[in-house]
Amino acid sequence: MKKKVFILGATGSIGTSTVDIVLHTPEKYEVVGIQAHSDGASLKKLAAFFPNARAYLTSESGMESLLRGLTESDADIVVNGIAGASGLMPSVAALESGKDLALANKETIVMAGPLIQAAALKNGAKLLPVDSEHSAVFALIQSFGPDAVSELILTASGGPFRAWTSEQIAQATLEDALRHPTWSMGAKITIDSASLANKGLEVIEACRLFNMPAEKVKVVVHPQSLVHSLIRTKDGTLYAQISKPDMRHPIASALDWPELPESSLEILDFSKKFAMDFEPPRREDFPLLGLAYRAAGLGASYPIAFNAANEIAVDAFLHKKIRFSDLARVTAGTLEHDWAQEPASFEEVLDADEKARMRAINIMETLLKC
Ligand code: NDP
Ligand code: MG
Repeated sequence: MKKKVFILGATGSIGTSTVDIVLHTPEKYEVVGIQAHSDGASLKKLAAFFPNARAYLTSESGMESLLRGLTESDADIVVNGIAGASGLMPSVAALESGKDLALANKETIVMAGPLIQAAALKNGAKLLPVDSEHSAVFALIQSFGPDAVSELILTASGGPFRAWTSEQIAQATLEDALRHPTWSMGAKITIDSASLANKGLEVIEACRLFNMPAEKVKVVVHPQSLVHSLIRTKDGTLYAQISKPDMRHPIASALDWPELPESSLEILDFSKKFAMDFEPPRREDFPLLGLAYRAAGLGASYPIAFNAANEIAVDAFLHKKIRFSDLARVTAGTLEHDWAQEPASFEEVLDADEKARMRAINIMETLLKC
């Protein structure tokens, strides 16, 4: 029996890697749904590969039709590669209709972790992380069981500014920030990788996915991006997941879990010399990481505010309205407000998200006047 797959964000970086996997293993998967937002031309091309798939272009059909389509679909698994907070409600629709969810859209967990976990449990659906760090931790925890784990260590490439001085970072341009050293990804996450906001989001994601307090989730900079993350077990030893950086690894793992996928991807070759470096993150120069730790520790709606403010700020930076150093200012200012209310429903999550966006826009306008 082929596994029926619904691909959200099919035209993006995660979506394209997913399409590559399913096209190379047609005996295993049948694509029954694809979604893109604005790139109708690419969606049309994809639809030609998958004649049995329903195609949704949400900028035209609206989100409601996608949510209905997800609910009614006979997909076994939904891959969510939508960028940003817009990925939340499609995740909810997938889980509430009992479909397994291969989740790249970290915003789903950052914004609504506890409610999402509950929805998965209630509907007997599996929540399978695709973010490479979380996919690694997920696999490692399976081997030892959660009680054996004392710490999670997320690796970060350090982004393009890892070795830049504070003064250089202050002058960084959009083009500089878009030049990621090891991963090729969408624009938003590439900027987040340069500011370490992405690692911050991942700290929150890890706390919520693996039920860990923020102080037990550590970050280490590892420029080669070969170690995707580590766990420390109670006896003090470390276990790592290592492979060449290629998102097709974690996507295929999620698609096939609990089986291990047969892979034809290039493997690490020990016949050649290579090095792996590790260094602590420079927190003073990348304040968004510390802000994310604060949001993770405070919980409730703070992670929603962190994510919303950062999305607003990154969008402005991508349009060259603010400087790189303003990203942290907008998010820090937004977190100063009271986000202590724990959302009791997805509607309340979306309300808090909307409020945080308004705050962030106000703060940005004040910044621009200075
Ligand atoms: P991309 O920008 O490459 O792709 C985003 C996809 O989402 C596109 O298909 C886009 O459609 C669609 N989309 C954009 N806006 C909306 C919207 N408002 N409503 C619905 N769909 C929308 O992003 P990535 O693939 O890089 O990232 C996707 C998610 O995966 C993010 O949450 C990111 O953090 C996460 N992730 C990505 C990794 C990577 O390697 N890229 C690694 C780990 C996690 P269209 O093109 O038609 O506009
Ligand atoms: Mg990641």
